[in-house]
Amino acid sequence: MLPVIALVGRPNVGKSTLFNRLTRTRDALVADFPGLTRDRKYGQAKIEELEYLVIDTGGIHGDEEGIDAEMANQSLQAIDEADAILFLVDARTGVNASDQAIAQHLRMQNKQVFLVANKTDGIDADSAIADFYSLALGEVHPIAAAQGRGVNVLIELALKPFVEESAANALALAESGEAELAIDEFTEDEDELARLEQQFADLPIKLGIVGRPNVGKSTLTNRILGEERVVVYDMPGTTRDSIYIPMQREDQDYVLIDTAGVRRRGKVTEAVEKFSVIKTLKAIEDANVVLLVLDAKSGISDQDLSLLGFILNAGRALVIAVNKWDGLDQDTKDTIKSELDRRLGFIDFARVHFISALHGTGVGHLYESVQEAYKSATTRTSTSMLTRIMQMAQEDHQPPLVQGRRVKLRYAHAGGYNPPRIVIHGNQVLSLPDSYKRYLMNYFRRSLKTMGTPIRIEFKEGT
Ligand code: GDP
Ligand code: GDP
Repeated sequence: MLPVIALVGRPNVGKSTLFNRLTRTRDALVADFPGLTRDRKYGQAKIEELEYLVIDTGGIHGDEEGIDAEMANQSLQAIDEADAILFLVDARTGVNASDQAIAQHLRMQNKQVFLVANKTDGIDADSAIADFYSLALGEVHPIAAAQGRGVNVLIELALKPFVEESAANALALAESGEAELAIDEFTEDEDELARLEQQFADLPIKLGIVGRPNVGKSTLTNRILGEERVVVYDMPGTTRDSIYIPMQREDQDYVLIDTAGVRRRGKVTEAVEKFSVIKTLKAIEDANVVLLVLDAKSGISDQDLSLLGFILNAGRALVIAVNKWDGLDQDTKDTIKSELDRRLGFIDFARVHFISALHGTGVGHLYESVQEAYKSATTRTSTSMLTRIMQMAQEDHQPPLVQGRRVKLRYAHAGGYNPPRIVIHGNQVLSLPDSYKRYLMNYFRRSLKTMGTPIRIEFKEGT
């Protein structure tokens, strides 16, 4: 599930160029985590049908004294959590001391490292790369990230077991005649949509509890687990993977995706794992609904906004919990609320709760919003209803002229879930300006009373 590739190397070897090439195949699901991770970048990419995460570890300078310190922190963690490491070197400059320092470090890791000589365009690649065998990391893989040459072959090699597994899974599913529950999958088949909707209704809600370090995730998870009947807990987790905890509340099944690593040993609960960006991103990908925990005492940080960006890009249903709402005076509360409005005003679909995980205040109400968000994200609306709403929107406010002709919206139907997709067919719809698309989006959201989930609208030319 969602393998991870880390790009490592000294500055200027072409890591960002490769990162951009890999991630631009999908609407750049890219997040920066300033402060927390220095200049590291996370993005999502796809090869064949396999999605994977790419991390540009940045920040590794490899100077003799700096290397240990630099690598010690999140970069080291990224290397540790990655499934494959691409170690980039510059074919045009040959081996230097930084490369050697990084290579030495990587040789000590028990990891799959691919030594990649970049910038082999327009030079004699064979002789340029010969030098790099001295780094004792085995085969040297020549690429030109700027042109993309050699890149796909390299990624296929690095993710071979995962690509094969995903292909085998797809084949097995096809042969068994059973399509996977494709929550993001786009389909126009009415029967398939009905089946998927039913499937969602029957399944537990996968609820990811995410947030930056110290916002109170463990405290909240403990509070939830302490109060509810926990069916199973203490499943083994690894550093890079969240713990999945099935639970039930008022006849609704949930699976908590616990990124904080709360585990119970007998009666003692302890947070066993430290914060990991990779783990958090994977949890967001895998959740149906994300519960983003913010810290009222420390305000909204850039890291919070980065996480939010990732959640939005992933199209996840969302509930926001502003934690540590205890012991604040009214002035402070007002200040925090206006900061929230100012910085989070752009997400108009998510409910915001003010809670105290420590005292339990407000925690019970979170479930209502989580259920509401899940329902909004997974309920189908009929073609006639969607078309009717679309027509009303069009009557209230006509689409603009494009090259002297009026854009005509013809009909709308559902196209998938979590997030819900609405497909609009019509004439010249591909030329609709963004402002009109936003208008339609808001119109649908208001009319359908969708709460807690983003909506995606896609346009198709003609009938
Ligand atoms: P980073 O510091 O490792 O992230 O390196 P960048 O991606 O910023 O690249 C450093 C420089 O190398 C930039 O000027 C790139 O345009 C250039 N570069 C990157 N990849 C290639 C390549 O495949 N061929 C050539 N000729 N130049 C490249
Ligand atoms: P995590 O890193 O997100 O899992 O955060 P923790 O649950 O470990 O909490 C970090 C710190 O915040 C701990 O000292 C908690 O006791 C404290 N904390 C968590 N929730 C609350 C709360 O609702 N109110 C107050 N005042 N402190 C809290």
